[in-house]
Order: sequence, then C-alpha cells, then structure tokens
Amino acid sequence: MIQGTTKLFGLVGHPVEHSCSPLIHNTLASLMKLDMIYVPLHVYPENVNQVLKGAYALNIQGMNVTVPYKNVILQQLEDVDPFAVQVGAVNTLKKTQTGYKGYNTDTSGLFLSLISRGITLQNKTVVIIGGGGAARATAMLCAKEKAAGITICNRTRNKAEMIKKDILQHYDIPINVVTPDEFILQNAVDLCFQTTSLGMHPKVKESPVQNHTFFSAVKVAVDLIYNPGKTKFLQMAQSNHCTIINGLGMLLYQAVQAFEIWNEVKVPPDVVEQVRELLSERYQWI
Ligand code: NAP
Repeated sequence: MIQGTTKLFGLVGHPVEHSCSPLIHNTLASLMKLDMIYVPLHVYPENVNQVLKGAYALNIQGMNVTVPYKNVILQQLEDVDPFAVQVGAVNTLKKTQTGYKGYNTDTSGLFLSLISRGITLQNKTVVIIGGGGAARATAMLCAKEKAAGITICNRTRNKAEMIKKDILQHYDIPINVVTPDEFILQNAVDLCFQTTSLGMHPKVKESPVQNHTFFSAVKVAVDLIYNPGKTKFLQMAQSNHCTIINGLGMLLYQAVQAFEIWNEVKVPPDVVEQVRELLSERYQWI
C-alpha cells in the first residue's frame, strides 16, 4: 500500500517500457515487507542533465539507470564506487546526504549469476564478443577476478581497443583485440560471453557467430540476452555440447544487489528464489 511514508525508487532510461525491473523490485519490497515503491522514469535525452537534480528534489531514494544513460549519468555524480569508476558506467544510484552515489551492479550481478552455476573466473581463458557497455563491464569483471587472459572480438576495433586500454590501467592481464574477420580460435576457451545485442527479441535469427566449429573450442557459452531465453548463439553452443547460460541470472542478481544497497539489507536466498520463480514464468531460465 502506498502511504505518506512510502519511499520512492525508479528506473531511469530511454526507453523503459519493456523493463521487468519494476516487477522485480516491487516483488522484493513486498516479500521483504519494506515500505517502498519502484516506478519507471522515462527520461528523454534532452532532459538527462537535469535528472539528478530533479530526483534529489523529489526525495527519490534510489534509481537504476539503463540504456543509454549508464555512462552519461556517471559524469554527473559526486561519489562513485571505485569499481564503477573502473568500469566507466553506473546502473545503481543511492541517495546520500549530498547527492547520489553510483554503483555498478551489472558486474556483481553477472559474477553472482556465474557463481550460482558453480563457475568462477580465476585462471579462466575468456572470449568476449562485443565492445559496448556490457562488454566493458564483463571484461573489467574478468580482469578483476584474475582471468588468465581475455580476447575481445568486436566489429568496431576502436571500441575494443579502448576497453583494453582502460583495463590495463588497473590490471596486469593479457588482452587480445580482434575483429570478427580476423578471429580464429586456436586454443580452447573456458568461457565465451556474447555481449552484443544480436539475437535479442524480435531479431531472434541473428547471431554474431555463424560458424558451428567456433563452439568446439568453447566450454561455457554465456549470452547476456534473456529475451529470447535461448538465443541463436546459445542454440548453436548447446548443439555443440557447450554449457549454456543466459542473461536472466545477471538481471536477477543485479537487481538484488541494488535492492540491498538501497535498503541496507541482505535478501535471503529463499526470497531470491521466489523472485527467480516469478521471472521464470515470463522468461526461460538457462
Ligand atoms: P551497446 O553499448 O549498445 O553495445 C552493443 C554492442 O553490440 C556493440 O559492441 C556493437 O558493436 C554490437 N553490435 C550491435 N549490432 C551489431 C551488428 N549488427 N553486428 C555486430 N555487432 C553489433 O549495448 P550494451 O549495453 O553493451 O548491451 C548489449 C546487450 O547486453 C543487450 O542485448 C543488453 O540487453 C544486454 N545486457 C543484459 C544485461 C542483463 O542484465 N542480462 C545487462 C546489460 C546488458 P559495435 O561496437 O561495432 O557498434
């Protein structure tokens, strides 16, 4: 029930209509018996520079930030978690005495999603397909968790080179940058992350990898997309006997982490499981 004491949270993005973050956070609030509500906050590009001032004035306690503002909002914050600074993007903001502090729970969400499947990154060889924000977050996470080496394969070489440069400022790790035309998989790969938007609903027939032999060298294939549950990329990986994981776990755990930061609580495993079951009614859990 919304009442005078109800704390307001929301999702800033453009667009926001298709997000399931309101469903996740309002369910978490209900299960955790917290007096809060989470609403979509559609921000048009011409207004993005006023978001923090307006939200602060309205006493909004916390926000998630989604495409295309994860980077631009970071520039406006006065306090940012050090790892979010390294990643160069925030997706979670918490109101403080003086403004908002930014965090990146996409990275911790991906990490927890892998852990929940018994997968660690230390000493693993990693291929990341893509060079956008999700690729950057994935690459920085792999470096932080001491992967053995990273290959970033992106259509636009320059963007992958920038990610490499930024990682090497913080971590000592072998990083190889290639374009899809140049990419030949010579050695076995522990984990391959598909971080492009190719294959996302409604363009479900697309995949950045067309060649089935690619997957013969890959042990675990992770697609950050969760709609459809099994992208063409994951279908191909599965038919070549890879373990497959989609982005639904990342979505769930990034939300749980944000909820914990905002409310300074620990969400118990049985509550996480209930939200997981709710999401499974809409999307395929892989
Ligand atoms: P982004 O910054 O816009 O980057 C998109 C990437 O896709 C770029 O590397 C781009 O390559 C590549 N790409 C797009 N169209 C392509 C094409 N036709 N051929 C080859 N490459 C193409 O987006 P993002 O924020 O990284 O998000 C990427 C995906 O991750 C989205 O599907 C998003 O839903 C998903 N994601 C999931 C979660 C989750 O919680 N599960 C969280 C974050 C993101 P260029 O660099 O060459 O343009």
